[in-house]
Amino acid sequence: MISREFVGALKLKLKAATILTDPSDCWAYGSDNSRRHALPDAVILPSSHEEIETLVKLCFDFNVPLIARGRASGTTGGVVPIKGGVIVSLERMTKILQFDPDNRMIQVQAGVLNSEVQKIAASEKLFWAPDPSSRDYCTVGGNIACCAAGPRAVKYGTVRENTLGLTAVIGTGETIHTGIFTNKGVVGYDFTRLLIGSEGTLGIVTAVTLKLLPLPPESRIIRALYRTLEGAALAVAQMTRQPVIPSALEFIDGNCLNLLREHYDPNLSSDAHAMLMIEADGDKEDIQHQIDRLKIAAKTDDLLSLEVAETAEQAEAFWKMRKSLSPTLRKLSPHKINEDVVVPVSKMPEFIRHIDGLSKKYAFTIVNFGHAGNGNIHVNILADPNDPIMGPKAKACLNEVFDYVISLKGTLSGEHGVGIEKRDYVAKEIDPVTLNLMKRIKSQFDPKDILNPGKLFPE
Ligand SMILES: Cc1cc2nc3c(=O)[nH]c(=O)nc-3n(C[C@H](O)[C@H](O)[C@H](O)COP(=O)(O)OP(=O)(O)OC[C@H]3O[C@@H](n4cnc5c(N)ncnc54)[C@H](O)[C@@H]3O)c2cc1C
Repeated sequence: MISREFVGALKLKLKAATILTDPSDCWAYGSDNSRRHALPDAVILPSSHEEIETLVKLCFDFNVPLIARGRASGTTGGVVPIKGGVIVSLERMTKILQFDPDNRMIQVQAGVLNSEVQKIAASEKLFWAPDPSSRDYCTVGGNIACCAAGPRAVKYGTVRENTLGLTAVIGTGETIHTGIFTNKGVVGYDFTRLLIGSEGTLGIVTAVTLKLLPLPPESRIIRALYRTLEGAALAVAQMTRQPVIPSALEFIDGNCLNLLREHYDPNLSSDAHAMLMIEADGDKEDIQHQIDRLKIAAKTDDLLSLEVAETAEQAEAFWKMRKSLSPTLRKLSPHKINEDVVVPVSKMPEFIRHIDGLSKKYAFTIVNFGHAGNGNIHVNILADPNDPIMGPKAKACLNEVFDYVISLKGTLSGEHGVGIEKRDYVAKEIDPVTLNLMKRIKSQFDPKDILNPGKLFPE
């Protein structure tokens, strides 16, 4: 609970910002796509960096938890105020501060949507590489906080490789400026990378400087079906070892194909037990060469069929099928567990076989798809973790999934982050000495532990 004195100070010092304290107004700000919920004590909607600075100083003085919120599309409960306190919603921080096409750079407030950045960049034939499927309703601040990515990461990298600098307010209410405005620079510690993926626990990001890339004028997509998982995995390995890097290399397993056959395309070959979607982009003159090289690399003894989309409509239909997976799964199992683990690319078949074993052991349907080029697999356990009977079994199954990931030298999350959902498993991946150092770094940025408390670290 926050004190009346604190609310009075908010109203006095943040006259221009909207302040919500009525529980019925605050309710909608208590959850994200994890479908967890906790009621915030207050919600503040600032429009400027200075307002956020004032807000953090007040929260510091009154010892009140403060949770940054972009558009709440996160899947890990990152914005859920489990310890109460104030939600600072960045939804009004939508100014474009500087667009400099000649230096391939854009600086925006943190509440700007990813798709808005793409639109502005495209007007000068540029783009920002991180392309989460949620780009129409997630903010660049949220992208920075979670180190978001998408299919293009295989060729162009994630937020980490495509962010030049940040402005943030740390837990004392002080402002820091990290990074550079140029494409190269090595002065000082790399706080930009430290803040990326820190999930609002080190600072509230108010502005970001993004590195833009030239927008490839052409793209083509190949859809390849394989008789076995091993065949598809061999193709992925072949593709990642030759010089033409695909701009997307997506993977769908046999259980997913069964679902797609049932709900999307009954004509998908029933002999297929894995599918790859392979995209190339570049200049008109060079795209056919890329496609030819990728087709050669996609060939294995288990290849059943290989189709290149000849029209924009066909390409869209291929992508639509891939993108229909998440909503279809949500319909089948509204409270499903959706993980985004990463394993070394060569270990993908072994991992999926293990998951099939767990599916039989626990009697749950588990389907897998994801960004094969990065070994990033979305493991979907179609079970409700909150169900009194299914829940404990689902959690035991998930625990085994994570153990296996770690045994293969993988990582627990490739893009969604930790939040509350994965914090209890973090110690499987990070050793106690390293975890302790991370906590000491956190205490330098946030000495009173007011920034997004209870997230990221095991309790
Ligand atoms: C249908 C769907 C598809 C998705 N697809 C992808 C995908 O392809 N790739 C991918 O990576 N993710 C994906 N996501 C997850 C999600 O969209 C991303 O993690 C996104 O980056 C979150 O942005 P947001 O603005 O919604 O952040 P929020 O959900 O509001 O916040 C996420 C975390 O960031 C912190 N945060 C937000 N803004 C700030 C700030 N300004 N300063 C400090 N901390 C901040 C919050 O405290 C929280 O911990 C998907 C989600 C959905 C619902």
